[in-house]
Amino acid sequence: MTNTLFDGLLSVGRNDPSRRFAVLPDGRDYSYGDVETVSARFANVLVSLGLQPGDRVAVQAEKSIEALMLYLGTVRAGGVFLPLNTAYTPAEIEYFLGDAKPRVFVCNPKKRDQLAPVADKAGAAIETLGVWRSPDESAGSLSDKALAAGEKFASVERGSEDLAAILYTSGTTGRSKGAMLTHGNLLSNAEVLEKSWRFSAGDVLLHVLPIFHTHGLFVASNTVMIAGASMIFLPKFDADEVFRYLPQATSMMGVPTFYTRLLADERLNRESTAHMRLFTSGSAPLLAETHRAFEAATGQRILERYGMTETNMSTSNPYDDERRAGTVGFALEGTELRIADPETAEILPDGEIGVIEVKGPNVFSGYWQMPEKTASEFRADGFFITGDLGFVDPDGYVTIVGRGKDLVITGGYNVYPKEVELVIDELPGVVESAVIGVPHKDFGEGVVGCVVAKEPLEEDAVIAALKDKLARFKQPKRIVFVDELPRNTMGKVQKNVLRDAYKDLLG
Ligand code: ATP
Ligand code: MG
Repeated sequence: MTNTLFDGLLSVGRNDPSRRFAVLPDGRDYSYGDVETVSARFANVLVSLGLQPGDRVAVQAEKSIEALMLYLGTVRAGGVFLPLNTAYTPAEIEYFLGDAKPRVFVCNPKKRDQLAPVADKAGAAIETLGVWRSPDESAGSLSDKALAAGEKFASVERGSEDLAAILYTSGTTGRSKGAMLTHGNLLSNAEVLEKSWRFSAGDVLLHVLPIFHTHGLFVASNTVMIAGASMIFLPKFDADEVFRYLPQATSMMGVPTFYTRLLADERLNRESTAHMRLFTSGSAPLLAETHRAFEAATGQRILERYGMTETNMSTSNPYDDERRAGTVGFALEGTELRIADPETAEILPDGEIGVIEVKGPNVFSGYWQMPEKTASEFRADGFFITGDLGFVDPDGYVTIVGRGKDLVITGGYNVYPKEVELVIDELPGVVESAVIGVPHKDFGEGVVGCVVAKEPLEEDAVIAALKDKLARFKQPKRIVFVDELPRNTMGKVQKNVLRDAYKDLLG
């Protein structure tokens, strides 16, 4: 019997159970044999709790290797893994559980009392999973049950079309949607990333991303696993810990804010990174300036890639050829990418800005319980409309200029925020900026620049400095200074927060 995802991911590791899979901060060493037996224990527990193939297992747990094994155990039991952001409040959890109707809900032991009524209302059994700290301390009811369960489990048969996970999108542009991901989606992406980024059994990935999001859960963990490689599995990004473990690593995956934080640290230099094979970035745009500064400091060119919860990874800069700053590279092998006119759906030639559309084994099977939304986001020929705007340059590199929802339409003209942000960012004294559209009585929307400055700047002076650099309709009508841009845990700028804060600015 085949369990497409689990068997595919373990194809190398299974042949050598003593091979290391993870190094943990508490000194524990985790082997591929442990992956097999601990995931079996969780699968046994889930089945004993009544899990049927196709049932959801919703999990809001601290990052731990056990939580990762729970993902694999769910997949092996034929279930659908549904991780939830650790920052979600009980009210938010109520929405997700009501929407997903999981068989089992697993939460942090500290939140059990608060969340038990929420799970009950959704008809889910509640279990707890904390971080394993010592042999005499319970890490939660699910851990206790797993320790008592058998370490063998015959994985439930699952084909590539069967669901393996439902991942909710980050909610950057509105309410999170549940993306239904199949065994085939996840396995094909792990295969293509292993190959594109040259992961092999000798690799050691520094894993500092959260595991409730596609980046840390699938891009990082699945790619390591399928290669039979290992990882240093840390609870979160912390510069001291990164520099402590970096000498043991060969590669690191990060969001852009990790790289800006490393750049601010004097320990980042050629010596501390000389042994590293690969740094990748994604989940939010990496400023070309950050890319260049990182290269100047370390000699390493960060490899930027682009993906979404719905599509897994779609594009990547090349491993061997030029990693071009400010671009997300080429469509990955097996994925087709095109640029279309958002209104007419007409396919646009290279160089023109339009909505990015992708098709391939990486693309999800639809939004959970949103058939109309799913239908409206796919073209008749199967391409998924990402909602991101971009263009393809003459060499084939894809550049993202922003999200369709962030496009500013002022007096009938389109303003791509990225273009204005790049010009503002060049001004002396500016750290970074976010350009938004806010209601304007004559123009519909007006351009506003939110600027983080490293020295006192005057609004009028900034506006004046942009006059010769941008067409009049693109020039910000107002500049507001902010201490920092609002970002979520994945380092994404929350433009809706800014739009809301400044909605009355232009009257
Ligand atoms: P929601 O769909 O709920 O509003 P979200 O789109 O932020 O949230 P994710 O699926 O986590 O949720 O993020 C995918 C988005 O992240 C992409 O559509 C794109 O806008 C952005 N993104 C990912 N990688 C990159 C990148 N390298 N450069 C620019 N943007 C990126
Ligand atoms: Mg999205």
